[in-house]
Amino acid sequence: MNLRNQLFINGQWQDGDGSLEVINPSTGQVITKISTAGEKECDAALDAADKAFPAWAATAPRFRAEILRKAFELMSAEVDEIAKLISMENGKVFSDARGEAVYAAEFFRWFSEETVRTQGDFRKSPSGDKTIIVTHQPIGPSLLITPWNFPAAMATRKLAPALAAGCTAILKAASETPLTALYIVDLLDRAGVPKGVVNFVMPSKTGAMISKMLHDPRLRNISFTGSTEVGRILIKESADLVIRTSMELGGNAPFLVFDDSDVEQAVAAVMIAKMRNGGAACTSANRIYVQKAIATQFTDALAKAMGSLKMADGLSEGAQLGASVSIKERNKIAELVESAVNAGGKIEVGGAIPAGDGAFYPATVISVSKDNPILNHEIFGPVAPVVTFETEAEGISLANNTEYGLISYVFSGDMKKAIRVAEKLESGMVAINRGVISDPAAPFGGVKQSGLGREGGFAGIHEFLETKFIGVEL
Ligand code: NAP
Repeated sequence: MNLRNQLFINGQWQDGDGSLEVINPSTGQVITKISTAGEKECDAALDAADKAFPAWAATAPRFRAEILRKAFELMSAEVDEIAKLISMENGKVFSDARGEAVYAAEFFRWFSEETVRTQGDFRKSPSGDKTIIVTHQPIGPSLLITPWNFPAAMATRKLAPALAAGCTAILKAASETPLTALYIVDLLDRAGVPKGVVNFVMPSKTGAMISKMLHDPRLRNISFTGSTEVGRILIKESADLVIRTSMELGGNAPFLVFDDSDVEQAVAAVMIAKMRNGGAACTSANRIYVQKAIATQFTDALAKAMGSLKMADGLSEGAQLGASVSIKERNKIAELVESAVNAGGKIEVGGAIPAGDGAFYPATVISVSKDNPILNHEIFGPVAPVVTFETEAEGISLANNTEYGLISYVFSGDMKKAIRVAEKLESGMVAINRGVISDPAAPFGGVKQSGLGREGGFAGIHEFLETKFIGVEL
């Protein structure tokens, strides 16, 4: 396997100020060590992105589109290899990893197509005194920071629109999962991205070094995906030089199941919404609200489906639930379940750390009351708290009772009701009668404390473009 383990700066693979172990969470074993970046390397990456920017911004859109198309083709051809790497460093099962790699490649295809479609405007002003020209220009060197839960898709969801727009990039992956990101950087190099346009750093002191970059006028844009906690820090840090920010932050998705639903189909959708990525997704259904008339039937069926999942090393035959990314993350999940039980929650299935190595936690269903503390946390694991509700108004009010607003799910046999409810849910996205809706061609993003901006869709490229108005006397 093509395992890159160095920094990538100005088109060169190089070492930095030290190294970092990358661990396979299914076994606890070290996969490899990667180089870390000190201040010197972070500065060099920013310098490279800054110097490469004018020439890259001036390339023809079709030129950039062809490189992105090539990246899509390479990634599609190498999807199994990438999926193995994702599974190895992240712990998720191979089928989820493969699904992620395919989804991730699609961002290259979508933004290759978008590269040649940014539209401007040319019209007379209403008073007739001038001509209005509106055009778009790349913002400039952009810092892209990604989390560990989707190491491929979160990188391509940023790299593809950045390159499409004509921005240069410095990618910083999560310290738990840098290998997939490094693979993608290598793939972009092979696809023909000129030197300095894409750089990769893994700072040895994340907070301090990213802060320094955000106080350097050469940097013009930050695109971050990760926790709301870190997002808040980065928004504050970006304020000093008024750096453009795009924030894809945490979620605490509600899943409303109305009593006119087909229970079997609703359980199947919840299984996808909850268990894709072993529950480690910002879109994961964390609060399952079920209407009273079907609550018992639904909970029993969900517990049966969750209890039947085979938990094993993500790369082993038939594995349906892999490991969490680390023992630390796994223990956080266990603590949340413990506090839910202490607050009166009833375990329907799962709920105990298994013996043996690896960061495993079993698929768990827990019946809780409306005020159980687990409902206030992003669980990021295979735990489904189920709450009973009575009326439509109560369901909506419970769903909206959170500072997050990324995605909500609605399941109902009555489409008119489902759309009515969707309109009242405070989230950037709503899934109706489906467990997953993410699509490179659709705008992904949240409201409230789930973020600022949208990735993917027609909006995605605009996270990397400035709008310029030129007024002309004609
Ligand atoms: P995280 O702890 O916020 O880390 C995300 C990234 O930020 C990592 O690369 C991390 O680097 C870096 N980071 C941490 N502290 C930083 C600081 N002070 N300054 C600059 N960078 C810093 O999140 P995570 O645990 O990796 O990922 C899980 C979170 O991501 C969840 O909250 C999830 O909901 C969210 N997420 C959101 C979306 C979305 O699209 N809305 C998608 C996926 C995930 P180090 O590894 O070096 O600490």
